[in-house]
Amino acid sequence: MSHHIDPVCGKRLNTNKAHIVVSYEGENYYLCCPMCQKEFERNPQKYAKRKSR
Ligand SMILES: [Zn+2]
Repeated sequence: MSHHIDPVCGKRLNTNKAHIVVSYEGENYYLCCPMCQKEFERNPQKYAKRKSR
């Protein structure tokens, strides 16, 4: 079992459950609710993981 962190609100998400998944720059991000999805899409660079190079 794995989990992801909602980058917007910081909530830990269980991937067994259906969540909103958005793809940004080849990475998948899991959001807990449409509000977080909207926020992520409004400002994805703020929430996306920084590539280390
Ligand atoms: Zn959230």
